[in-house]
Amino acid sequence: MGKKYVGAHVSASGGVENAPLNAKAIGAKAFALFTKNQRQWVAKPLTIKSIDEFKINLKEADIAPEHVLPHDSYLINLGHPEEDKLEKSRLAFIDELERAKQLGLKLLNFHPGSHLQKISKKDPEYEQKLKDVEYACLDVIADSMNLAIEATKDSDVILVIENTAGQGTNLGYKFEHLAYLIDKVDDKSRVGVCIDTCHMFTAGYDIRTREAYDKTWDEFDKIVKFKYLKGMHINDSKPPLGSRVDRHESLGKGEIGLDAFKFIMNDERMDNIPLILETIDETIWKDEIELLYSFNPDSRP
Ligand SMILES: [Zn+2]
Ligand SMILES: [Zn+2]
Repeated sequence: MGKKYVGAHVSASGGVENAPLNAKAIGAKAFALFTKNQRQWVAKPLTIKSIDEFKINLKEADIAPEHVLPHDSYLINLGHPEEDKLEKSRLAFIDELERAKQLGLKLLNFHPGSHLQKISKKDPEYEQKLKDVEYACLDVIADSMNLAIEATKDSDVILVIENTAGQGTNLGYKFEHLAYLIDKVDDKSRVGVCIDTCHMFTAGYDIRTREAYDKTWDEFDKIVKFKYLKGMHINDSKPPLGSRVDRHESLGKGEIGLDAFKFIMNDERMDNIPLILETIDETIWKDEIELLYSFNPDSRP
């Protein structure tokens, strides 16, 4: 029987070394963190002391490096249409990969990027023009990923693409987008995906009933393939199915409901990967972790 590694996106305030202890305090078996301030471009390098303490605290929390899913800065857009901003994003992304490696971690979670173009919906060729713009941007993102992999050749950190709700001009809201990026990355050993349940749902993929859940994941496996699934974000959703709006909710209090999370906790395809809460009320994360394990007590590591 496989195990489930459930946790939350915990605070690293005061230093990355605090994150494992914050995870332990809520009974987490996995966690996500920002390895630098997510709203600033430049951060001081991690100190040896900070790195050493992070590793000690990880052991103390009994959490394996494979179950830590660092998230990159929200400022980074690997598909930015302006050359200088694209360059800035690429450099910051490489820095994020290096920080993950310094901490002994194996994954880096990122949002693919946004095309930032305006196309009038009144345009008779709107659909085609949108598709052209989206795939041109995906090409830029794939180039960014290949450059980052090339720049960190001595590393085995996996670039974990997160699916999005498709809000604004964000890409990655279709399984086809994720598959397209994977296909364009030369070194397949360095690429994976993280599926966020809220984003998946508001992007139009239903998981509320057994039938809908099976259909959605069959489609995922056909288009992306389960071998690339390296982590999940476990969130309920405030907005309804297909609304393309990114607003998380606590488990069972949103539009998705608890059944989907019961299915996940009993689905062996989600064994051994970090399952990370990004729900809105962090004061109940401990209870939400307990709730998830109560759906499958044998899955507790
Ligand atoms: Zn997420
Ligand atoms: Zn979100």
